[in-house]
Amino acid sequence: MQKELLEELMKKVPLLKEIGEEKEVAWINPHKIPFSDAKENSELTMADIEDAERRLERFAPFIMKCFPETEDRNGIIESVLTEIPQMKEKMNQKYQCGLEGRLLLKQDSHLAIAGSVKARGGIYEVLKHTEDLALEHGLLAPGDSYAKLAEPECREFFSKYTIQVGSTGNLGMSIGIMSAAIGYEVIVHMSADAKQWKKDLLRSHQVTVVEYESDYSEAVKNGRKQSDANPYSYFVDDENSRNLFLGYAVAAKRLVGQLKEKEVSADEDHPLFVYIPCGVGGAPGGITFGLKHMFGDYVHCFFVEPTQAPCMLVGMASGLNSDISVQDIGLTGQTHADGLAVGRPSGFVGGVMEPLLSGEFTVADKKLYNYMRDLLEAEDIFLEPSACAAFQGLTGLPGKEMQEYMEKENLTAKMGQASHIVWATGGSLVPEEIREKYKHTYLD
Ligand SMILES: *Cc1c(COP(=O)(O)O)cnc(C)c1O
Repeated sequence: MQKELLEELMKKVPLLKEIGEEKEVAWINPHKIPFSDAKENSELTMADIEDAERRLERFAPFIMKCFPETEDRNGIIESVLTEIPQMKEKMNQKYQCGLEGRLLLKQDSHLAIAGSVKARGGIYEVLKHTEDLALEHGLLAPGDSYAKLAEPECREFFSKYTIQVGSTGNLGMSIGIMSAAIGYEVIVHMSADAKQWKKDLLRSHQVTVVEYESDYSEAVKNGRKQSDANPYSYFVDDENSRNLFLGYAVAAKRLVGQLKEKEVSADEDHPLFVYIPCGVGGAPGGITFGLKHMFGDYVHCFFVEPTQAPCMLVGMASGLNSDISVQDIGLTGQTHADGLAVGRPSGFVGGVMEPLLSGEFTVADKKLYNYMRDLLEAEDIFLEPSACAAFQGLTGLPGKEMQEYMEKENLTAKMGQASHIVWATGGSLVPEEIREKYKHTYLD
């Protein structure tokens, strides 16, 4: 980005200067509008979310057959919602969050097959592509059980095709494991941030892992180029994909029943706050899109990003979306939160979020390990550091920005009846020795 342009931008949006200095910030989205208005101009709709949900139901018999660990949910990949009262107490005592109401953890960290939120979007997109191919080539007729796709002649068919994706780790794992189960050739283009154990795990599934010394955007660019050169190859485009996005959005539909079960209300008198870690934006964006369709103005969604890689915040606060990167404002993009190590956001998601998102927080890397230890001590639940970013949202509640937000939204008197959901996005596949290392990691 040109120097003059950048200086002008910093003057117009002073927050960008603070972000560029690695400060932790809170940002309230000035462009949020009532959901009934936002819905009018949306390219994607409720019907698209329902279509995705039904597609996942059609694939359930196949998933159950390939992944017996999904049997107890009949092939539906879904996580539990857990109330975490001891963590609430800890957050209040240690960080003075002033948290009233109930605190819950959405444990996508423990989703079957991929152990992260990517088991939603990534797996959904592979299944969507598989259904398209199967219908086009007559492997499936309408009404067939999709369990048929696990038969050898189908695997043989899919082995002619390749799936490719660029990833910081978790997306590659979800796409790699599912694609390999269907029979595809799989190539995962891994950025320098990807952890070794994630590469090893993928290779054990016969996935080809290409390693890059550069960041995520570069891995995506190369992956896309290689895939485009092969007519039998399909590229999962994390930066633009509507399919990924809709796979994530289904989470919200299923959350409705889980909240009812726990007698958690989201209505005029009971605001629902949701905090989600953000990388390129697909996962938190899709989930937010779904939540707004379920709960409208009663749900308040916030993203959390690392101070070194707050790409969605930089894109949204500047209004430039994917035309600006964190490197443009002097950040490295390097962070211990490997799942969030993205320097340039999805332009598609930024646009969809503009009228919907309540705001954003950034968090310093060292705090991720503290939150991780806090949750382990309080609730005996392990999350990977990236996933712990979401707790930063709670510490922002007493801050000036949030207090103003509550005033503006008429929530101040209702906070005693509010519920807060921390969206835990990954962790259950982290090997034991790496967990031990994390537990003893203290950064300055
Ligand atoms: C990928 C990921 C996210 C964020 O998802 P994006 O679609 O990249 O925004 C959050 N947490 C974890 C653990 C992830 O792997």
